[in-house]
Amino acid sequence: MKVLVAVKRVIDANVKVRVKADNTGVELTNVKMAMNPFDEIGVEEAIRLKEAGKATEVVAVSLGGAPSQETIRTALAMGADRGIHVQTDVELQPLAVAKLLKAVIEKEQPGIVIVGKQAIDDDSNQTGQMLAGLLGWPQATFASKLNIEGEGAEVTREVDGGLETIRIKLPAIITTDLRLNEPRYASLPNIMKAKKKPIEALTPEALGVDPKPRLKTLKVVEPPKRQAGIKVKTVQELVDKLRNDAKVI
Ligand code: AMP
Repeated sequence: MKVLVAVKRVIDANVKVRVKADNTGVELTNVKMAMNPFDEIGVEEAIRLKEAGKATEVVAVSLGGAPSQETIRTALAMGADRGIHVQTDVELQPLAVAKLLKAVIEKEQPGIVIVGKQAIDDDSNQTGQMLAGLLGWPQATFASKLNIEGEGAEVTREVDGGLETIRIKLPAIITTDLRLNEPRYASLPNIMKAKKKPIEALTPEALGVDPKPRLKTLKVVEPPKRQAGIKVKTVQELVDKLRNDAKVI
């Protein structure tokens, strides 16, 4: 069984994001970029499936400008077998990503597709769900445990107030949650080996998909600055402030 895993290039999770002066978006110039953390979890899970003998090949797919290839190389260094880069400089929104992934999936015919539950730049949490809808495939979102059994998968999902375990038929879409696994670091020999692994180049045109944005960003603003805290002398004073100033009790 082939596993296809989507990897998005986003601002590194450790970087403090700054809003552009004209409020049209966030500053990307000279900013450190990295693989979306939920996609690292996806790559790790795909590699573990291969190591467990449940998958035969791991294919990492990224959509975006030329630097997205670096993200694919990271996945290859972690242990993915080959990459697919859908090259476009158009701003990609979740519906376009889902349509492009669908076209790649129809070409590749994987048994399981793993995407992150959300990309930490747009926080959309839409791609996996849209992709399952477009393909008419089962989906298991927010997965914290994945067990492949024959023609199906048993997936534990993080839901409000607990965990839900469902069984779905394959092929299916899985979206990763934080507790699914702890992604490995790529070793130096694997980083070197990854340089020789193949990356296929595709375009939205070749896949017959129009990726242009359907939504318009009106403005992006910084969150309001947090006000300085105060120290209270007594519990009574704390209760009084919570009741009368903050009005939370
Ligand atoms: P979102 O719906 O935008 O929050 O993204 C959810 C997931 O979809 C991400 O964690 C990725 O796995 C996948 N995804 C979104 N955009 C891209 C992209 N440009 N390239 C590859 N995968 C993507």
